[in-house]
Amino acid sequence: MSHSSPIQRRKSRQIHVGKVAVGGDAPISVQSMTNTETCDVAATVAQVQAIADAGGDIVRVSVPSMEAAEAFRAIRAQVDVPLVADIHFDHRIALKVAEYGVDCLRINPGNIGRDDKVREVIACARDKGIPIRIGVNAGSLGKDLQRKYGEPTAEALVESALHHVDILDKHDYQDFKVSVKASEVFMAVDAYRLLAKQIEQPLHLGITEAGGLRGGTVKSAVGLGMLLYEGIGDTIRISLAADPVEEIKVGFEILKSLKLRANGINFIACPSCSRQNFDVIGTMNSLEQRLEDIRTPMDVAVIGCIVNGPGEAREADVGLTGASPSNLIYVGGEPDHKVSNTDFIDHLEQVIRERAASLEAERARQEEAVILKSTG
Ligand code: SF4
Repeated sequence: MSHSSPIQRRKSRQIHVGKVAVGGDAPISVQSMTNTETCDVAATVAQVQAIADAGGDIVRVSVPSMEAAEAFRAIRAQVDVPLVADIHFDHRIALKVAEYGVDCLRINPGNIGRDDKVREVIACARDKGIPIRIGVNAGSLGKDLQRKYGEPTAEALVESALHHVDILDKHDYQDFKVSVKASEVFMAVDAYRLLAKQIEQPLHLGITEAGGLRGGTVKSAVGLGMLLYEGIGDTIRISLAADPVEEIKVGFEILKSLKLRANGINFIACPSCSRQNFDVIGTMNSLEQRLEDIRTPMDVAVIGCIVNGPGEAREADVGLTGASPSNLIYVGGEPDHKVSNTDFIDHLEQVIRERAASLEAERARQEEAVILKSTG
């Protein structure tokens, strides 16, 4: 029962990271990066899978050595989700992972070195249809730019990015996306704003090294929120010193709050107060945990009393409103039935799952109708 987003997205050129389109009119993708030792294939595969299961569209894996490139081959063979290899300097690693089925190379052409090596990487990427991500980071600006600007600035980040872009341009290679990340929100936002005016390629957004789960989430939401609201950004990565699965969840919450992407349940819950007729916080936490697997976009309202309950519940797919002597459950915006205020979690979970299933069935019916119409 969501409304559509008022955001007008910047028109970017579309590229494909494996089966995932990035840029153009493609949905903004959410990605994360493994933090396991890449050579520990079992641990890395498990983490890639966990990220994908949480809804991650793309997963990045660091490939710092030829040994890690061999591990990448084994990882690639065991997972379906598009993989980006994060490579610094050594072009031989890029060629190896390209051979092993990588879906995107994160490598800065200016750091590869000699022109013949750059040419070799680009020729290979072109041949195999692999896009490149130029990734500029305030923490690792080149010495020349550090000297020129004295300290990292938005302009320095953009100049660095454009230097790498120029190299790809020179080789007539347009299949790339760019990030200009900083841990300082204003610097990152300014850099992306500047860059968005200068290139047509998709932008990969992130506030780098944002911090721990709480601080990093807030910082990322503020920074990415500003950019996304302006229509800037085609794929996002939330950098948290936390489990990568949390990065995916936070990424989707940001996109959901701007109505740029729907994935799973959008909860509306009151903070609770002495008027509550049931334990709002306990109920909310329990539902969030129990319903993590639901991917159907839907609104669920959990409101402690009749002050705001009926109003919110009427706008939601399922709503629980605290009332005395019994609480009220709304389905599809209409009052449906009453429940006592003890032991209703199992029941509520069942009602939400049933509603999710009926919304899915409805969506499938609509899709089928569109296909039938288009095939005449
Ligand atoms: S909706 Fe009711 S229980 Fe919830 S915070 Fe408001 S007054 Fe308190």
